[in-house]
Amino acid sequence: MSAEIIDGRAVARKVRESASARVSALVAAGHAAPGLATVLVGQDPASDTYVRMKRRSCEELGIRSIHHALPADTSEEELLALVAALDADPSVDGILVQLPLPRQIDEKAVLGAIGIRKDVDGFHPHNLGLLAMKGREPLFRPCTPAGVMVLLRESGVTLSGAEAVVIGRSNIVGMPMAMLLIEADATVTVCHSRTRDLAAHLRRADIVVSAIGRPATVTGAMLKPGATVIDVGTNRVDAPGTQSGSRLVGDVDFDSAVAVAGRITPVPGGVGPMTIAMLMDNTVRSAEMRAGVVAIPAL
Ligand code: NAP
Repeated sequence: MSAEIIDGRAVARKVRESASARVSALVAAGHAAPGLATVLVGQDPASDTYVRMKRRSCEELGIRSIHHALPADTSEEELLALVAALDADPSVDGILVQLPLPRQIDEKAVLGAIGIRKDVDGFHPHNLGLLAMKGREPLFRPCTPAGVMVLLRESGVTLSGAEAVVIGRSNIVGMPMAMLLIEADATVTVCHSRTRDLAAHLRRADIVVSAIGRPATVTGAMLKPGATVIDVGTNRVDAPGTQSGSRLVGDVDFDSAVAVAGRITPVPGGVGPMTIAMLMDNTVRSAEMRAGVVAIPAL
């Protein structure tokens, strides 16, 4: 048996097309186009690439991109002052501060300073708190886990009552992922570095979402036959003989897992494209809330 490959690029295209149509509808109704402010501190090449991809995606969809590149020695006060100015600017619907930040800046202070109405990354404690509460609704769901939910739904995976195992408990992927699966009525187990027997948990799982950051941690032998496997992990490993000398892999040993799973995401081309697509979706949602097209959830 060979698993169905979940095509993240195709699903992300659909999300972007929908976001683009909503931008056109906003503008046609006389509202300003959505605006996304990106803030990059320092010159980390990976962060620079991520921000460039986000800005290009904005351009493609008709979202205004407002970029601030700050030197690596920017102080926390300077960054907080910029975030406050962007928060007060009515032409800005979303604020994205690219992580990681240099050591002299407290990430928690900066993420907490982004107003909840412009928190399109969905990382603000208030948004995460609303997500964790039954009967409450966050203004924005964190992009990567929200993208995983779209992949699961678009692939026709049954969520209600399913046994789901999330590996990883970070604030930006693992924990919100578990909360979104619970919201969708799955029965969720969260595994992490102290989990005693990962394979025992995985053997029961109809859905596995891996967000660890270690290659080949999940193998086919650990999986329940027919399981849906979503690989969030993004790891660069040596690939001698290739032009770049390295390649991207996930947390899942794809070759053994594809023979056991029912559906599986590849790396690259699985979850990765969804993250930026969901950022666009959240930015348009913010503009729709500003325009009164979408109701703002009770805070
Ligand atoms: P993180 O903050 O480093 O968290 C990793 C989690 O994995 C932690 O909860 C850790 O447990 C757990 N873990 C580590 N080793 C483990 C093991 N051997 N067995 C079970 N659990 C283990 O990382 P993150 O920010 O959540 O990101 C996770 C991965 O997703 C990374 O590869 C990252 O690059 C990737 N990512 C991809 C996208 C995308 O768009 N595709 C977006 C975001 C992140 P403890 O809590 O006990 O330390």
